[in-house]
This record gives sequence, structure tokens and C-alpha cells, in this order.
Amino acid sequence: MTITVAIVGSGPAGFYTADALVDGGCDVQVDIIERLPTPYGLIRGGVAPDHQTTKKVARKYEQTARFDAVRYFGNVEVNKDVSLVELREMYDAVVLAVGAPGDRKLTIPGADKEGVHGSAAFVGWYNGHPDFSDLAPDLNTATAVVIGNGNVALDCARVLVRSREGMAHADIAAHAMELIAASPLADVYMTGRRGPLEAKFTNVELRELGELEQAVPLARAEQLPDSVPDDMDPRDRRLTERNLASLREYAGNDPAAKPKRIHFEFFAQPVEILGDDRVEAVKFERTNVVDGRARGTGELFEIPCGLVIAAIGYRSDPVEGAPFDDKAGIIPNDDGRVDDGLYAVGWIKRGPTGVISSNRPDGVTVAEYIRADFKEIAHGPAHGRPGRAALAPLLKERGVRVVTFEDWKKIEAAEIARAEGSVRPREKFVTVPEMLKVLDA
Ligand code: NAP
Repeated sequence: MTITVAIVGSGPAGFYTADALVDGGCDVQVDIIERLPTPYGLIRGGVAPDHQTTKKVARKYEQTARFDAVRYFGNVEVNKDVSLVELREMYDAVVLAVGAPGDRKLTIPGADKEGVHGSAAFVGWYNGHPDFSDLAPDLNTATAVVIGNGNVALDCARVLVRSREGMAHADIAAHAMELIAASPLADVYMTGRRGPLEAKFTNVELRELGELEQAVPLARAEQLPDSVPDDMDPRDRRLTERNLASLREYAGNDPAAKPKRIHFEFFAQPVEILGDDRVEAVKFERTNVVDGRARGTGELFEIPCGLVIAAIGYRSDPVEGAPFDDKAGIIPNDDGRVDDGLYAVGWIKRGPTGVISSNRPDGVTVAEYIRADFKEIAHGPAHGRPGRAALAPLLKERGVRVVTFEDWKKIEAAEIARAEGSVRPREKFVTVPEMLKVLDA
């Protein structure tokens, strides 16, 4: 018989789980339920718009969505249109793949001033995510500070200084490109509370800064160690050595080589955001790194700026009807198993780290557990729960406007048509009503 599975969330973790379920050689029906009309989670709303190669993985997800066993229920919000409790009654298994859509909060004094944005909001804004499309950050400033030394911080710093020409092949939201192109921003400070050895960004992304059309990356030679400690894990060592080599090169760059600059400022712990209502500067304490931890030296310094992006990590929201570990910011789970018939994959399972493909093993593991946990249904005469045969009429009865995968393809075709005449892959719709209007036409 058929195992019915609902996957909540259509990002990479959700799609890898669907793919692994369909691939598993037993009879399954997989419904992917997504709050937005558009699928693919971070591929559309998180991955930087000038990283189109990374976004190509969506083609693979599209193949998964087109399997007979898989159905996409877009524009359906769990715990608004249908509760998790109801889903668990309707499906044999429910997999939560809801990611980490919020920001880890910057908690220093002044962090709530105007002009301070978390990276989830800022990245969502430049990617045209409907939740953040009206953010309209004030970019009328010469200097910005990015807090954090991860890949998201690098993305934010890079996008802030890219030119229209540099973004010609990108699907950056039009509203963001307009503000960035008009901005007088000349200096972006990439600040890390620890040093270059502890920075979390990866080398391909760091090197990209050396190839920007109108910005030059700068590092300070005195902040760069001569070598990497011997006791470092060999793989980490290789990666860190590459980063150090790139930063050494940046230390030799001419600040006047291009109109804009990205400055690496390590050993800088933010302690306060200064200004009246708006940010006017960030106050930092200089640090040493002792046993891998940043330790304040008491020396304070300020970087005057009109914009702050806190790129200090993402955070998951609790899902009503499922347990939540508030400290760890995840759904407590045993390798993806949460409760009878309830599973978690991706960032809600293990926290907000790793690249897109890191989600694949989560999906494969949970698919195996589902097949094992429902083997009486998979290999025997037992009947499972009704799945979409119950969900579809319930949503209809509640007047929920379900966006199917074919509907999404129409929205996508309209976005591609809007970019016609340029080399841009698409011109995104940035609000849900605009997306639904395409379907009414
Ligand atoms: P991340 O890699 O965890 O980096 C977070 C940064 O914020 C770290 O430098 C961290 O410093 C700093 N930080 C945390 N709390 C702080 C605080 N209170 N004050 C000051 N600094 C603080 O997170 P992310 O950049 O959001 O990236 C999330 C995941 O997505 C990562 O695995 C990343 O590699 C991945 N990603 C990959 C790509 C790509 O491959 N191109 C692009 C984007 C994202 P400490 O190290 O000192 O804690």
C-alpha cells in the first residue's frame, strides 16, 4: 500500500527528502506544503542573486516535483490554513523542513536603532522575498559595517558594492538594484570578533571579492598571522591557509584602485551601536583570541557608519504542535526522528550551518526511517492515512488558494518574460498578490 508523507517546507531539505522517498523503491505519495506560492526556499530567497550556478540545483528539484507521486501545495501555511496536528492525523508521516528564517539577534545596546538590519531581512530584501520586500534600507551613506565573518556576511558586503554591470546576469530584486546603484556607499567594513584563523567564510567566496568590478578588498597585514597552528585538523588547515593567502594578497591592495572598498577588520567585538534614533557608528572592543575564544582587551574604537548589517547567523522559529529547544534553536530530534510519524530535516533539525548539499543526507536518512517505521504499509496489506485525499478537500473547504507546481511554472514564466531584452535570468515578483495575479490573468 501507499505511505502518505507531508513535507512542510520546499527548500533544499524538503526536496532532498521528497527525492529520497520517491527513489526508495516503495509506494509513497509525497505532498510538499509551502507557505509561499514559490518553491525552493533558500535557493530563491537566500543564495545570493549573483550566484546563479548554485541556483541551478533547482532544476533537479523540479524533476522531483514532476514525479507522479509528488504534489506541490504552494501558498498553504501550516498552522494557519491547516494545523500540524491535522496534518499528522491526515498523513502517515510529516517531515518538518521549515529551515531557519529568522536572525540570531544582535543583543548589544543600540541594536534596535534605525539603519541596523539582520542578514535574514537584508538578504530577503535583495532577493525579493515577500516577507522583506518593503524593508527599503537607507543606503544613503558612505560607510556600512557588516558584523560577522561567515559566508552570509561576505554575500551582504559583496552585494552592497556591486554595480549594475556586475549584477547583469543576476536575479537581484529590481528595488534592491535601484537603491544599491544609487547609493554613495564607498566603504564596507567586514568585522569579525575573532581572527582570520577562526573566520567561517570559505575561500571561493573570499576570492570572489578580488574580482569585483568597482570594489577592492583590503586587509591589514598586522592582523594576519604568519602561519596556521600545527594542531589544526588537516582539512581545516588547508582551507585556512588558502584564506590567509587571499587575505595577504588583499593586504597589498591599493585602496585607491577602485571607487569602493571592503575592509577586513578582525579582532573586533561589537559592544554598542551609537547614534540618536539612527545608527551613526559602531563601537567595538579590540579582542585577542585565547583558546579559540574572543577575549576583550579593554581597548575601544569606533567605526562611523550609516548602515549596519548583523550577519551573525540564522535562527529557526518554533512550530506549534512540535517540541522546540529554545536554547539550541532546533526541534529536538534523534537523527531526524521527532515523535511517532513526525520527522525533521535541514536547519530546523541541526541548526543553521552547511551548504545546500549538506541537506541531502538529512533527507536520505529520514526517508529510510519513514520506510522502516511504516513497513507494514509499504510491504503489507495495511492501509495508511489518506494524505492528499483528505488535505485537498479540507483546503478547498477553507477557501485556501492552493498554488500547484504548474501554477508556479506560470509565475516563473511571467518572471522570465519580464526580464526579456536583458541577460537577467528573471525579474522577480516580490509580493504574493503580484504572484497570484499572474494566475488570474
Ligand atoms: P556562520 O557561518 O555561522 O557565521 C556567523 C558569523 O557571525 C561568525 O563569524 C560568528 O563569529 C559571528 N557571530 C555570531 N554571533 C555573534 C555575535 N554575537 N557578535 C559578533 N559576531 C557574531 O553563519 P552564516 O554566515 O549565517 O552562514 C550560515 C551557513 O550558510 C554557513 O554554514 C555558511 O557557510 C552557509 N552559506 C554558504 C554560502 C556559500 O557557500 N556561498 C553562502 C551563504 C551561506 P564566531 O565564529 O566568533 O562565532
